[in-house]
Amino acid sequence: MDTSLLNALPSLVIGLADLAAAFLFMYGLHRMASPVTASSGIFVAGVGMAVAVLSSFLVAFDVSSTAQPHLMVNIALALVALALGGGVAWWSGRTVAMTSMPQMVALYNGMGGGAAGAIAAVELFGGKAQGPTTLTVTLLGAVIGAVSLSGSLIAWAKLDGVINKPLRFKGQQIVNGLVLIATGAVGAAIVLAGVGLPVLALTQPQAITLFFACALALGVLMTLPIGGADMPVVISIFNAFTGLAVALEGFVLQNPALMIAGMVVGAAGMLLTLLMAKAMNRSVSNVVFTNFGEAAKHKQGKIKGELKPMQPGDAGIAMRYATSVIIVPGYGLAVAQGQGKLFEFVKLLQAGGVSVKFAVHPVAGRMPGQMDVLLAEAGVPYDMIFQLEDINDDFKTTDVALVIGANDVVNPAARTDKSSPIFGMPILDADQAKQVLVVKRGEGKGYAGIVNSLFYGDNCHMVYGDAQAVLVQMIEAVRGLGLPAAA
Ligand code: NDP
Repeated sequence: MDTSLLNALPSLVIGLADLAAAFLFMYGLHRMASPVTASSGIFVAGVGMAVAVLSSFLVAFDVSSTAQPHLMVNIALALVALALGGGVAWWSGRTVAMTSMPQMVALYNGMGGGAAGAIAAVELFGGKAQGPTTLTVTLLGAVIGAVSLSGSLIAWAKLDGVINKPLRFKGQQIVNGLVLIATGAVGAAIVLAGVGLPVLALTQPQAITLFFACALALGVLMTLPIGGADMPVVISIFNAFTGLAVALEGFVLQNPALMIAGMVVGAAGMLLTLLMAKAMNRSVSNVVFTNFGEAAKHKQGKIKGELKPMQPGDAGIAMRYATSVIIVPGYGLAVAQGQGKLFEFVKLLQAGGVSVKFAVHPVAGRMPGQMDVLLAEAGVPYDMIFQLEDINDDFKTTDVALVIGANDVVNPAARTDKSSPIFGMPILDADQAKQVLVVKRGEGKGYAGIVNSLFYGDNCHMVYGDAQAVLVQMIEAVRGLGLPAAA
């Protein structure tokens, strides 16, 4: 065979593999849009990732690539890193508790930003990023990736309880603004020095180190003052940042798979951010610059009414004799791992002719989609699960709203109390049902740290206990009625 053809073969295979990887990412994402096809979508995107990784190794055989000799040297290191990273991810993915998923997402997202930053560091310190355009794009990817890394680590620490309150000081936004300006100025100086116009009394490696230090500090400073309840939106913003940083570094490396994957992640992250902000009736800048969730400063007026307890068995029987029940699951259901028992109870109700629906709030639980995943895990059919806008009108014609481990997402203060940190957030109108039954362990507050007036309403009863234990008692009580045969 003609040797020039043989030499061109690896680069042709790499190009085709990159294209296939990009196609698989997009097709996988498309399948993730519906709960029915979501798990196969994740598998397809995973195959895409494997193809992209393999194609990176093929570069070592591409004699036409300038990166080739370098890669040959580092191939063993890359294999070790892959085995380590893959091993840790496999283990943590298998063992993570459902309630710790947000922390894990924050951490992995930060790793993505860090990887983009690391690519930029190699290009910058190695002097491979040359010319004003490449230097600027590399630096942009570096700053966005570094902010995403350090910001995501702070988000992880907040979600994990390592940092348990927002850290604020006077003039914080001015300091943040100054650090942002300093990062931009050092970046500009690096580009100018790169074209032979040094403006700083620093060597290029010193300036690059300072640039990364400023960018990492910026991520920390930006995230520290944001309240814990806003972390999901913040993680989503950093997810968009990571995607953008990866796309920019893909441009620097001229790697189409990285560019496309990065842009897809960036766009998806930005869309998710906007949708979540909309679900809370807030703007993205309001999330980043105001202090939602800081309950200490919120003076709640005295709530009229009293908490009226009810025994789990009585609550179960009340639902058995109802015509319609809407169930509002929340974070506490995930904590109790009560989803299996819940569906068992629902099947009993259905067998008795009760119409049962699930109402899922977009920010119920601790990560977007957590309740959908939880219910899917228990085998609840998708056509029983309704999103906020599709079910809210049904509450007023429903006999019983069963609020199980949920709190903030049904707090009427979001509609009525202008001073409440959750004011304006669309909520599930559980209070409008004829009867409301709330399952929770005691008087614990929700994530926003505020008391819920729904629990004091005339139509509301509190069923105290761990969600799973309560459900077991409800099931026993309904079975004890002896009609109909157990489902
Ligand atoms: P909340 O956090 O408002 O309330 C959960 C309730 O569950 C608590 O009041 C608690 O009361 C109860 N609970 C805890 N453990 C158990 C248990 N084992 N059995 C029974 N009940 C239990 O949850 P929601 O889902 O209503 O609202 C989500 C909140 O989290 C919102 O404020 C949202 O902004 C925020 N958030 C959302 C994220 C997302 O993306 N979905 C991510 C991060 C935050 P008690 O202690 O008395 O049992």
